[in-house]
Amino acid sequence: MNNKVILVVLDGLNLKVAQDCMGYLTGLIEHKIASQYALQSELPSLSRPLYECILTGSSPIESGIVHNQVVRNSHLESIFSLANKQGKKTAAAAYHWVSELYNISPYNAQRDRHTNNLALNIQHGLFYHWDHYPDEALFLDGEYLRQEYDPDFLLVHPMNIDNAGHRYGLDSAEYRNSARRADIVLSDFLPQWISLGYQILITSDHGMNNDKSHGGTLKEEREVPLYLIGDHFSHKAHTIKQTELCGMVCELLGLTHSKPFKKECLK
Ligand SMILES: [Zn+2]
Repeated sequence: MNNKVILVVLDGLNLKVAQDCMGYLTGLIEHKIASQYALQSELPSLSRPLYECILTGSSPIESGIVHNQVVRNSHLESIFSLANKQGKKTAAAAYHWVSELYNISPYNAQRDRHTNNLALNIQHGLFYHWDHYPDEALFLDGEYLRQEYDPDFLLVHPMNIDNAGHRYGLDSAEYRNSARRADIVLSDFLPQWISLGYQILITSDHGMNNDKSHGGTLKEEREVPLYLIGDHFSHKAHTIKQTELCGMVCELLGLTHSKPFKKECLK
């Protein structure tokens, strides 16, 4: 049993494509190691507003982070800020917008790409600003942070699936194959994380449409998967909201917080 949490946000991953293409994750479900839920993203179904949603438990309408060009620090308590204040170690291998929300805004690659500062909400960060930054490299960045700093909370946030969706659209071999590649990369890291007893959440911010975009209310833009792996999850059937992920992680970390979450999902 381990109270440390790894949150993987596979940017732009539609639920159906995850179910059809991610054979390793589905194999974990068949072996009763993981459980899967369908989440509906909050609105608008855009990245930066939904990073804020996942990490603070507040919808974009509530947070004010309503589109991708709102470049400022979050005004809300996040998993990172709560963990940092309560003596936990935090780390993220993530797109630079995450650094802008919880560390320093605007992002300055020369200063922020490699972050090590215990005073910041994300104490140890490897941030990137290229949408085509390889998922394999990003997962290695996350694994480096895990091995080097042993964080209580680690965010791993690759971008290749979303990037393929913007270039080729939802119904494309390229988009589906990017999900298959992410599944293979995950299969390189998850066995060790599972054997070490981490509580692991794998989800997405939003899905994708055939217009090579997202932001609206279409089912394919809003429906994303959530995979839960670990002893602290009940693995029972429940409806989980995207706004409840933050509170769930805070509970797993043993933090004092006022974020919404579903007790029945945990044990
Ligand atoms: Zn996108």
